[in-house]
Amino acid sequence: MFKLVSQLALCLILASPLLAQNETDWSKKDWKKPETTEFYEPKPPIVTAAPVITPPPSDAIVLFDGKNMDNWVMSADGSPSKWTLKDGAMTIVLKSGDLKTKQLFGDCQLHVEFKIPADAKSSKYWGDSGNSGVFLQERYEVQIFDSYQNEVPIYSNGQCASLYKQVAPMANACSKPGDWNSYDIYFTAPRFRPNGSLEKPAYITVVHNGVLVLNHFEIQGEIKYIGYPTYDPHGKAAVHIQGHGSEVSFRNIWIRNL
Ligand code: MG
Repeated sequence: MFKLVSQLALCLILASPLLAQNETDWSKKDWKKPETTEFYEPKPPIVTAAPVITPPPSDAIVLFDGKNMDNWVMSADGSPSKWTLKDGAMTIVLKSGDLKTKQLFGDCQLHVEFKIPADAKSSKYWGDSGNSGVFLQERYEVQIFDSYQNEVPIYSNGQCASLYKQVAPMANACSKPGDWNSYDIYFTAPRFRPNGSLEKPAYITVVHNGVLVLNHFEIQGEIKYIGYPTYDPHGKAAVHIQGHGSEVSFRNIWIRNL
């Protein structure tokens, strides 16, 4: 018995520097720096793919059919969309802000087609090339970015089709700027208890240009540029499209409630 106890004690003594090391390293992390939640490895493999252009199924809610932006408002103040409508697509107007749906959603299947401008890299917004994003429930961002051939440097969990600042896509299936992409997103909303604590996290599956890039990923919480994601209780919320430093266009957006 004594031998067993002494062996256990020895194990704990030997393991303690390791535990202390981990604790020390963890506490040293500076959560006020955006870099803390940016990861460069592994870099997803590049896959050549083409957008999957799917017309809305009969039970889908058509959010954008190329004719008007009536289902959308500016996110900041609820005013009518300030983005441009041309050739069946709506396009971000720089510095106008984000767009969101009037309608609110929970569990859903969402189809979005998007195009990064052909001249994104030559613009003064180099480094922010093609930056936009599709937010589920206004909180969980599937990133849009010019990651074609990885020519524009960015951390893996910030490249196109990442769940921003949380996980990199399993593959880089980007079309080249100027060509259309498709996202098919399958989203399970988080569940909260009556006291506001998290009962079940959100999950997301994303297919980019027909390629599975996120497979039932457990979302860690609301997207944060700085700091670790956390959950705050919420109910149904809008689909939100980010207006950032690039004139990204959108078409054929539909959603199915699940
Ligand atoms: Mg973005």
